[in-house]
Amino acid sequence: MDFDLFIIGGGSAGVRCGRIVASHGAKVGVAEERFWGGTCVNIGCVPKKMLVQAGEYGAWAEDGAGFGWTIQKGPHDWNKLIAAKDREITRLEGIYRRLMATTTTFDARATFIDAHTLDVGGQKITAEKIVIATGGTPERPPIPGAELGIVSDDAFYLPTMPKKVIICGSGFIAVEFAGIFNALGAETHLVYRQPLPLRGFDQDMREGLAEALAGNGVILHPSATLGKLAANGDQRTLTFGDGQTLTADLVFFATGRVPNTKGLGLENAGVATKPNGAVVVSPKLQTSRPHIYALGDVTDQINLTPVALGQGHALADTLFGNNPRELSMKNIPSAVFSTPPVSTVGLTEEEAAANGPVDVYVSKFTPMRHTLSGRGRKSTMKLVVDQASQKVVGVHMLGEDAPEIIQGIAIAVVMGATKQDFDRCVGIHPTSAEEFVTMRSRTRVAGIAQAAE
Ligand code: NDP
Repeated sequence: MDFDLFIIGGGSAGVRCGRIVASHGAKVGVAEERFWGGTCVNIGCVPKKMLVQAGEYGAWAEDGAGFGWTIQKGPHDWNKLIAAKDREITRLEGIYRRLMATTTTFDARATFIDAHTLDVGGQKITAEKIVIATGGTPERPPIPGAELGIVSDDAFYLPTMPKKVIICGSGFIAVEFAGIFNALGAETHLVYRQPLPLRGFDQDMREGLAEALAGNGVILHPSATLGKLAANGDQRTLTFGDGQTLTADLVFFATGRVPNTKGLGLENAGVATKPNGAVVVSPKLQTSRPHIYALGDVTDQINLTPVALGQGHALADTLFGNNPRELSMKNIPSAVFSTPPVSTVGLTEEEAAANGPVDVYVSKFTPMRHTLSGRGRKSTMKLVVDQASQKVVGVHMLGEDAPEIIQGIAIAVVMGATKQDFDRCVGIHPTSAEEFVTMRSRTRVAGIAQAAE
């Protein structure tokens, strides 16, 4: 065999797995057909956050007036922002390439010839073990004219900032980009089929976010389905399922991502997939062929960069580091970089209440900054506590700095902290975060026992 392990895909999962395998002394090859660092570094989390931050500067310039500043907010230069973002992303991609110096890298597409043989850019390569870490790709909805809209991959390279944009969907990507385009000055419409954005998130967060988006000036179109998209010159007209139409410079489909397995030749290796193309894996990340593994978004479990990194590291240690372990998929914190952001760890009130009675603590308030800025933006913070054990099973926040705050709180949740543990922690004053340790009165009780009463 040419390699002890060969990895298809140099994104978060593949890069981490490859360099840790190499550090354990094994011979590892990695093929990447596009960007080292994958979606996250190049067309995902990292550049997305830069665009979110660009929007924040504009808002701060406006908010400064309430603090006595006179700031003339000039026009925003989209091309300057994109050029600066591109320079930083090129630098980061270079770092990712250098991280792989201990492995053998191939700037090429790899596909399966058989269960131990790959075609890597026309070269036949054999490996004892193979890892599939090809990530995911945006999917357009199945409507006529869908190809006339863009997806998130394109959003990072737009030649000009649209004056009016329609974003379809209300998941992570849709609400994040609604915040970006709105803050950079576009008339922004969010079209989604649920009554509230962010299906699957806690109800209080969903309601608070809808209020905040509308407060920022995003025009919401809830409970709307998609009919078709048509072009008239440079303009795009979206027809909703009920026949209403809306015209804009740009239509952006943020309607989900699918695992990137098309054309990989998985059938040649006998690797089983789900109907959406996701590679089926065991908790040990083994596919239906025991020497072939899959990691990260291609398995469509929890599609987050830190999960891909954690899985890549755990698999490398298990296979070559004499340290068998699995990444726990419980209590994985996450953040949606909407404006303001939502961040969460553990169960929603609805999920927790399905297991038994829960004590719910909610605090909704105007953060100090906005008492003077006049922005009228509220934060919502929420604890969900299992009534029997008093363990904090869910923590949710909508508001500025939520991701930074929840990262710290997540440690306590992973450790199994109780409400009493939160209560005996002294707050840091004046902060928003101190609310999490000063909530004393239960807002409500929810759960199956209460429903039965
Ligand atoms: P999501 O799965 O989060 O959201 C997809 C959205 O598209 C939902 O609102 C869904 O509606 C809607 N949708 C799907 N199909 C249709 C259709 N045919 N017509 C109308 N609406 C439709 O996908 P994203 O693309 O936003 O993100 C993919 C994943 O990437 C996320 O789930 C997350 O795991 C990851 N991600 C994480 C980020 C972070 O950590 N900050 C940032 C970006 C992505 P409905 O709810 O009704 O199904």
